[in-house]
Amino acid sequence: MERILVLAHADADGSLGKAGREALTAALSLKDGLPDSTLALGLVGENVQTAADQAACCGATRFLGVAGAAFAQARYATDAAAAEGIAKAAEATLVLAAGTSRWLRCLPGVALRLGGRVDTHVTGLSVTAGKLAVHRWYYRQRMEAVLQRTVRPWVVAVDPGCHAAWQGTPAPAQLEQVPIATGDALERTTVVGQLEPAVEAQTIRPDARLLFVAGAGWTKKQADGQTHVPEAEQLILDFLGQSRASLGSTKSLVDLGGEGQAVLRFLSHLNQVGQTGSTPRHPKGLATCCHGEEPHTVGWRFITERRAISLDPNCGWARGKADVLYVADAFQVMAKLNELLAAGKS
Ligand SMILES: Cc1cc2nc3c(=O)[nH]c(=O)nc-3n(C[C@H](O)[C@H](O)[C@H](O)COP(=O)(O)OP(=O)(O)OC[C@H]3O[C@@H](n4cnc5c(N)ncnc54)[C@H](O)[C@@H]3O)c2cc1C
Repeated sequence: MERILVLAHADADGSLGKAGREALTAALSLKDGLPDSTLALGLVGENVQTAADQAACCGATRFLGVAGAAFAQARYATDAAAAEGIAKAAEATLVLAAGTSRWLRCLPGVALRLGGRVDTHVTGLSVTAGKLAVHRWYYRQRMEAVLQRTVRPWVVAVDPGCHAAWQGTPAPAQLEQVPIATGDALERTTVVGQLEPAVEAQTIRPDARLLFVAGAGWTKKQADGQTHVPEAEQLILDFLGQSRASLGSTKSLVDLGGEGQAVLRFLSHLNQVGQTGSTPRHPKGLATCCHGEEPHTVGWRFITERRAISLDPNCGWARGKADVLYVADAFQVMAKLNELLAAGKS
């Protein structure tokens, strides 16, 4: 019998965030597949009652909390101690948590302390003939492995964005406090603040509904024999500002900068999508001025609805890579789109 524990942090406002609720959905699907299993929810944060109440009707039979000012901030020592204490109190055989930077930092250490094993970057969980398995991708998302383990406890970090976030009506939850001794040894590290790029420089938005991809065509000579890079920059920034889409790029476009050519200044290799770039998971994608070659489109594997704008009717997108290809000038299409978005807002 599996005793499933979901570990989650309470957000700064005390609520249970999206990534934690996604891990809860993953755990509930396992619980359904393993009829003898039980589910507990473990919460860590300055105050965890609001988060417990939020999930009161999720089907968990125990709500365990480690609360206090020392547990508000992301810190290996306190997070690991809290997770270890909750896992022991729940006698968990299976510990699920969202693969956030905060949990990924401490979960491998927690698994070691519990004498268990850990798997990270898990994208799916399944039960076949009563046997539990986790799914994860290797080799730049080209090979999917299905793993089973006999060792318990098994700690599993689920990648955010792979499950729907659980939602339910809040109700008073019976919270059991798990006492964890804090003190200088655990609190040597202090978070003094957070540095974030300016809003306009923050172009990678994993939670956006749309991925907007810019290809090298934006910097190429256009019908008038001239390049129009400043205009391209403005069109793309306007669109990102209005749509709040996440910005992806082709390799060719980000490589141009290294070759001293005119490029879009807000792009870096972090924006690159594809075989040697990232594999984002937005529900929709729009590629512009991009040829849709295989090494690029392989990064679109998890994009559900794909559209592209290219001048070339024989580009890769036309060969089964996109649901819809607009054979059109992206400068004109994006200018019109921005106009419509602005009109819609006003
Ligand atoms: C080992 C290896 C790994 C690679 N990894 C990656 C990777 O991770 N990611 C990646 O992206 N690539 C990768 N590549 C490169 C990939 O093969 C392509 O070279 C690259 O994706 C092409 O980029 P592009 O489509 O932006 O540019 P181009 O091939 O130059 O295409 C530009 C397109 O823009 C169109 N265009 C021009 N002007 C307009 C306009 N006004 N309106 C509409 N369309 C217009 C053109 O018709 C053309 O189709 C890799 C290659 C190799 C060999």
